[in-house]
Amino acid sequence: MTNAALHPSHCRQAPGLFIPRINRNRCEGKGPCVEACPLDVLAMGLLGPAERSGLSWVGRIKALAHGHRQAFVVRPEACAACGDCIRACPKHAITLTRSSTAAPSESAQDWSDPQ
Ligand code: SF4
Repeated sequence: MTNAALHPSHCRQAPGLFIPRINRNRCEGKGPCVEACPLDVLAMGLLGPAERSGLSWVGRIKALAHGHRQAFVVRPEACAACGDCIRACPKHAITLTRSSTAAPSESAQDWSDPQ
């Protein structure tokens, strides 16, 4: 069962018009955004080499401290811009952008265990 069944009534936009972006230097991988999303747009995973190389110095330290665990946008086409993920994030790591300027879906490789 998706979270959608729990929170069906407050979506703001047509699916996919806006897409969440995760600030990789802010996310600490606690996952409240994943729990909050009514449409299963987000999932927890591990940073891959590409994401790690783009981190700031402070971001690298934080990522290491949290086992490189972060939130990923796995179903961008389903986002209805309700903002629940933004409100749930204690680190203010999520913003919504119009889909024409947003990144595409993050691949499964991005959130697989790199071991
Ligand atoms: S705004 Fe956030 S919580 Fe709402 S549907 Fe989009 S990803 Fe999910």
